[in-house]
Amino acid sequence: ATPMSVMVGVGKAAEYGALIRQGEALQTAGKLDLVILDKTGTITRGQPTVTHRHALAGSDDELLALAAGLERHSEHPLAQAIVQAADNTGQRFAEVTDFEALNGKGVAGRYQGQTLRLGNRRWLEQQGLDLSTLADAERDISNDAGTPLFLTLADQPLGVIGVADAIKDDSAAAIRRLHDAGIQVMMVTGDVESTAAAIARSAGVDQYRAGVLPEDKARIVEEMRSKGHRVAMVGDGINDAPALAAADVGFAIGTGTDVAIESAAVTLMRGSLHGVADTIAISRATVRNIH
Ligand code: ADP
Ligand code: MG
Repeated sequence: ATPMSVMVGVGKAAEYGALIRQGEALQTAGKLDLVILDKTGTITRGQPTVTHRHALAGSDDELLALAAGLERHSEHPLAQAIVQAADNTGQRFAEVTDFEALNGKGVAGRYQGQTLRLGNRRWLEQQGLDLSTLADAERDISNDAGTPLFLTLADQPLGVIGVADAIKDDSAAAIRRLHDAGIQVMMVTGDVESTAAAIARSAGVDQYRAGVLPEDKARIVEEMRSKGHRVAMVGDGINDAPALAAADVGFAIGTGTDVAIESAAVTLMRGSLHGVADTIAISRATVRNIH
């Protein structure tokens, strides 16, 4: 490709809100055959809200006040949902010390001399907790495509909170455009299987991987590249950064974290997955003009 035609293509992409930082990416984009999408904040809006609360003992408001005592220290989108919901109850948040965020697992701290945890089933079961008394409430949350977050104190379950995040209005349409361009679409998420399945179905992706730990996102990109795919990764979070860097072309959602934006060749200023399809179409047109 001539430097001139690449410049024109980069300019064209910018009109569509796709800021290409490396001209190389414009030439590669047209050859992509697999697009891997993060779920939260990429396919979904990334503004989850609390939809369910189920306390085993005490009130649902107390459950939220304890959870918010932890989540006030976290920057995760799930944390914002919980802090917001707890704020709405007017209750004082629990005083939590020794806060710790465990990537892809949950959050922990000390409350009244005991360990308080909020996170997913897999992690808490690894800590030796029995969550069977919350299975019914968990099923209700999953059926509504929500994410169940379990609260435990001193290794006893206190309750479960359901948080749900709507799919962006245009995600399904953008994914159809990728399919029409002959591209496969995969979703990867740290979320649980049931929630991932519901979102994957609504969005219309070909395949998905659930329960993916942050460090494994990059591994999946590498794995698909080693199978001969030309891979795009699209993400917004800190935990997407290694995968964005490992992909043939990384696309960061413009409202995402700085780390994600710095790791990606392309920034989607409009936050829409249409930007991926636009970049690929412009790339193909640019490369066609050259030959
Ligand atoms: P995604 O790939 O969907 O962006 P993450 O890797 O950030 O997800 O998180 C995966 C899972 O880890 C969440 O669905 C949740 O169960 C748990 N988790 C992560 N951060 C938190 C948090 N601040 N509070 C509670 N749970 C969390
Ligand atoms: Mg995300």
